[in-house]
Amino acid sequence: MRPSKILCVGKNYAAHAKEMGGEVPPDPLVFLKPSSSVIGDGEAIVIPSWAGRIDYEGEIAVVIGRPARGVSPGDAWEHVGGIVPLNDVTARDLQRKDRQWARAKGFDTFCPVGTPIPPGKCDPLHLEVITRVNGQVRQQARASDMAFPIDYLIAYCSAFTSLEEGDVIATGTPEGVGPLSPGDVVEVEIPGVGTVRNPVVAGTEVPLPRWS
Ligand code: ZN
Repeated sequence: MRPSKILCVGKNYAAHAKEMGGEVPPDPLVFLKPSSSVIGDGEAIVIPSWAGRIDYEGEIAVVIGRPARGVSPGDAWEHVGGIVPLNDVTARDLQRKDRQWARAKGFDTFCPVGTPIPPGKCDPLHLEVITRVNGQVRQQARASDMAFPIDYLIAYCSAFTSLEEGDVIATGTPEGVGPLSPGDVVEVEIPGVGTVRNPVVAGTEVPLPRWS
């Protein structure tokens, strides 16, 4: 999967915003992950030793099926081609250190995405997301727990950018984020849709370039 863009929403569950020491913002907080960060089910999440703490973020994502620009929330679902579990893997220490999140969210392999299924084949208004690390549940929430619902997020994004076929919108992670270590296996499941399961490995070092 090589979407032209991956739009992500931060702090879209009140309980997660609180665990991060904040509140749900008055409008959706949107950021980007590069398409080069995408991996599929079974591929390894690679962690460089210098990157500090790395967290999983299990999320419900939608894949755009029909181009959308300036759509209303009422029409938004007509532009969705698929629903898919996504893991917004995050270098948490770097996210706090950097004012912009391009690096913390943008490492290679930091965007595991499952296999999308059409929204008509599930119940898009009653989606649930569950994250497990080594089989233990760490996150579990429903789409109805979101501060901004999926149709509104699609409309909101389409108001400033052209959503193209294949683009991905990740709708935010619920509470329960936590660290990953080499040797872990992390999976994000949307019951009735599918699971994306990935091992975590230590990186073959790409050192930071020297600056003196
Ligand atoms: Zn996220």
